[in-house]
Amino acid sequence: MGRFVPGSIFVASLALFVVSWTVARGGSSDALHISQVAPTPRAVSTPPIGHLAEPSLTAERVVFGTEGSYKVALTFDDGPHVVHTARLLRILQRHQVTATFFVNGFWLDPKRDRDGVARKLLLRMHQSGHAIGNHTLNHANLSTLTPEEQTWEIVGNDLLISQIIGQRTKLFRAPYGKMTAHVAQLLSAYDYVHARWSATTEEEQRDPHEIGNALMDWIRKHRGGIVLLHDRLPQSVSGVALFLAELDRLNCSRFSSQLPTFRLVSIESFSRSPSHSATRAALSTAEEVAHRRRLQRVCSTLALRHEQAGNR
Ligand SMILES: [Zn+2]
Repeated sequence: MGRFVPGSIFVASLALFVVSWTVARGGSSDALHISQVAPTPRAVSTPPIGHLAEPSLTAERVVFGTEGSYKVALTFDDGPHVVHTARLLRILQRHQVTATFFVNGFWLDPKRDRDGVARKLLLRMHQSGHAIGNHTLNHANLSTLTPEEQTWEIVGNDLLISQIIGQRTKLFRAPYGKMTAHVAQLLSAYDYVHARWSATTEEEQRDPHEIGNALMDWIRKHRGGIVLLHDRLPQSVSGVALFLAELDRLNCSRFSSQLPTFRLVSIESFSRSPSHSATRAALSTAEEVAHRRRLQRVCSTLALRHEQAGNR
């Protein structure tokens, strides 16, 4: 169960962390502070689909989606956005599906999030069963920072998030997919798994219908994997709503023909990390049962609507 930490305690804890971390490392006192460097998120262009180099990371520390698995993990980066992420959570709840959110700490800084809306949203996300991952404090291109700054971007963000949801993050995704040898060492030391992706849809340039259609085309072609989307973009949130409705229709037609159906899963379902094994086993059974129950309910509703439309 998470807990909501009032702003003053939150800032004090962070300040203490900065001091102790800086002293422990024997560094200077000019460690980055989130309130000094909280930028407005820029339009980011993600690297193309593919498996980028992973310096010094063992295979179980990297998670890729598996094609042909009929399992799809929806992942959302760069939030939580107080408007668009809130709407996305309502859409996911309506469809009874869970996702993974890779969040940036600058949204959660009490100086920016004065009324605590973003922090409450993160807590609600966690309590609704979504997985929370670390996407750095400031959406930093880690390859341009000093090792100390890289550490702060990752460890500082983990501290921020864990203060709100009451537990550490175990999943990490590097902004722009940019890794360094130092980050690889950190991920191993902090027991992180680096989450890559199988598909991204150039959402910046697309409208909701194009995003929904691109996701459906991808799923028909590759039959499983990890999808990277951005919950700070309103068109992505609308595109996901269209995709989920269309996926229900596809699944119901496959279900009635006794073909394998596509299951939305948490990203841990693809992870080979031993520290995810218990979660993975529990989720696997629970997700399969929930998927079949949900599908029976959704498909009978869709069939009923179809019948009523035919009788008019
Ligand atoms: Zn990002």
